[in-house]
Amino acid sequence: MKPMIEIKDLHKSYGNVEVLKGIDLTVRQGEVVVIIGPSGSGKSTALRCINRLEEISSGCIKVDGFDLYAEDTDINYVRTEAGMVFQQFNLFPHLSVLQNVTIGPVKVRKMPRQEAEILGQKLLEKVGLPDKAHAYPEQLSGGQKQRVAIARSLAMQPKVILFDEPTSALDPELVGEVLDVMKRLAAEGMTMVVVTHEMAFAKEVADRVIFIDQGRIQEENIPSEFFDNPSNPRLREFLGKVA
Ligand code: ADP
Ligand code: MG
Repeated sequence: MKPMIEIKDLHKSYGNVEVLKGIDLTVRQGEVVVIIGPSGSGKSTALRCINRLEEISSGCIKVDGFDLYAEDTDINYVRTEAGMVFQQFNLFPHLSVLQNVTIGPVKVRKMPRQEAEILGQKLLEKVGLPDKAHAYPEQLSGGQKQRVAIARSLAMQPKVILFDEPTSALDPELVGEVLDVMKRLAAEGMTMVVVTHEMAFAKEVADRVIFIDQGRIQEENIPSEFFDNPSNPRLREFLGKVA
């Protein structure tokens, strides 16, 4: 499978604090990569760089061969390459569920409203919320809101979806319904990078698991090796705390 995300020697500083100290990572089409690591290690920063929500200090990031940080890059085009799902769902409270899902395709992709609504309804079915099109975010549970956020991201028809701790803000009983939607997307061949503390999800769904610590990839392996045979001492310590 062809490389979908190619990150080469990515450095990112805030002021004079270097948060990412040389990240190299290739994610192939259809691959699911799970990133774990301690708080403050640079996981969210790395994801944000892949969606160009940050300026990078040096290095190169390509999505589907397209250089995100090239000078002539259209930022709106970048956002259609990689979708992002956040811990806080960031739905528009004054828009209905269907409007939340269709606003991107209508405004950014210039899709006719009717076509966007047909697509939106289809995506709400996909995330298990066919009857919530006309509800408002405040009427939904956290798990339902996050599933709407996933549908909204899919509506842009991205080549890659980046998930930043998508279940961390949810009550425990609502985590499963969101992970189930993500598992289905993975099975359908979506290329995904997922930052999560859900180790069972990583074991079951990931093609590769990556441990980021202190701004560097410290370990990278298939899940069975990663969890059963970790070589980095800080990863062993980390797994001991979260498992
Ligand atoms: P993680 O997601 O692994 O918890 P982050 O990528 O959010 O880590 O943060 C990595 C480091 O960068 C932390 O020390 C954090 O305080 C710092 N950081 C993140 N965003 C900013 C910002 N906008 N300005 C300054 N420092 C930041
Ligand atoms: Mg984070």
